[in-house]
Amino acid sequence: MEEFDVVIVGGGMVGASFALALRATRARVLLIESVPADSASQPSFDERTTAIGNGSRQIFESLGVWADMAREAAPIRSIHVSDAGRFGVARLDAQEQGVQAFGYVVPNRVIGRALWQALRGAQNVTLAVPAQLKSATLREDCVLLDVAAAGETRRLRASVAVAADGAGSVLRASAGIDADVEDYEQVAIVVNASTERPNTGEAFERFTPSGPLAVLPVAGGGYTVVWAVRPDRAAQLVSLDETAFAAELLAAFGWRAGRWTKVGRRNTYPLVLSRAAETVSGRVVLIGNAAQALHPVAGQGFNLGLRDAATLAEMLASVAHSTNEAPDYTELLAKFAAWRAEDRRGVTRFTDGLVKLFGSDLPGLGLVRNFGLLMFDLSPAAKRALSRVSWGFAGRMPRLARGLPLE
Ligand SMILES: Cc1cc2nc3c(=O)[nH]c(=O)nc-3n(C[C@H](O)[C@H](O)[C@H](O)COP(=O)(O)OP(=O)(O)OC[C@H]3O[C@@H](n4cnc5c(N)ncnc54)[C@H](O)[C@@H]3O)c2cc1C
Repeated sequence: MEEFDVVIVGGGMVGASFALALRATRARVLLIESVPADSASQPSFDERTTAIGNGSRQIFESLGVWADMAREAAPIRSIHVSDAGRFGVARLDAQEQGVQAFGYVVPNRVIGRALWQALRGAQNVTLAVPAQLKSATLREDCVLLDVAAAGETRRLRASVAVAADGAGSVLRASAGIDADVEDYEQVAIVVNASTERPNTGEAFERFTPSGPLAVLPVAGGGYTVVWAVRPDRAAQLVSLDETAFAAELLAAFGWRAGRWTKVGRRNTYPLVLSRAAETVSGRVVLIGNAAQALHPVAGQGFNLGLRDAATLAEMLASVAHSTNEAPDYTELLAKFAAWRAEDRRGVTRFTDGLVKLFGSDLPGLGLVRNFGLLMFDLSPAAKRALSRVSWGFAGRMPRLARGLPLE
């Protein structure tokens, strides 16, 4: 039976980043991914773009892949937040907060290309793609994984198995870890579009009665639109032709970015909040969406998952290098879960709170929102707090996010 120190299930945005971080260690790593990164049906590296904060940019820089992404990344230089039908508006300017940009909008396919290209040169990382985890059995000192590839199923042994296989994680289910899933009853329509004038690096977040609408700048002058609406409305909007859809977008968003001149293909994503009850069970550990999948309203899901990855890589590096004795993985994984708990909780509450505060029709809440946005606009402290979001929320930052090597 083939044996590895670390087997990663899922080579999407978080799993591929994690595998690349382990390149700097002596761990023998296997990465299992069912859909190649350049395939049209790759669910992680698809037509979406991802807003990454400065902390994530730093992690990519530390991993040596930021230069490949930077060419196709658009900086977010200011943020404009508004609430449809209300007077409160908040504006944030990166320069005022002492940063060049709050973050960068990068096409997911660009991220996938950069990560997988770098992975092909990683000597200690074996790539199994296309290969699919079917089930896993937890033993006291290892995990046995049944993996289907090229028409047959083989069994592998991992000292540690990392679930980076997304919200519907097979490894999480095999480990008997429950996930608490709350349906937001919203669907995100994602579309790349342009207006009559090129973007100036401004990102917009507009809260509408049916859900939040984000308009983010992309390289080349256009925008990516992430419009969360109720499922029936999403079906209707997707069935419209380009001109009719552009008119609906203009009605919901206003003229802030100008008239929509080109609207690309619309893709839809049902939105849920999924939280695993635990992030560790025996030798199985969850990172990224397998641990928590969030509403995209604040663009935090991947940023949070990347911090999971950077932290776990740092902890594994500390044992994989130290002695010849078998590492105490039980203690290490317990420490990992404790380290990540505050960040997970903080970001999940913040994101869920935003969806609920701005999505509620309860009397009085509209007033709170008006004053919230106005106070926010007037308060330098609140703005500073939000700009910290762009670095990552709480607690100790992993070394890669501070620009340091793993150890
Ligand atoms: C509309 C939308 C917009 C978003 N925008 C942002 C944003 O701007 N900023 C941000 O930070 N986050 C954003 N997010 C969140 C972000 O997309 C996720 O947090 C991120 O994709 C999580 O990556 P992941 O690798 O954990 O999981 P996934 O992206 O789900 O990847 C899982 C991978 O595992 C593979 N896999 C699954 N099962 C198996 C198996 N059994 N065997 C082998 N491989 C398997 C899949 O093929 C896939 O490659 C957004 C999400 C949505 C829906």
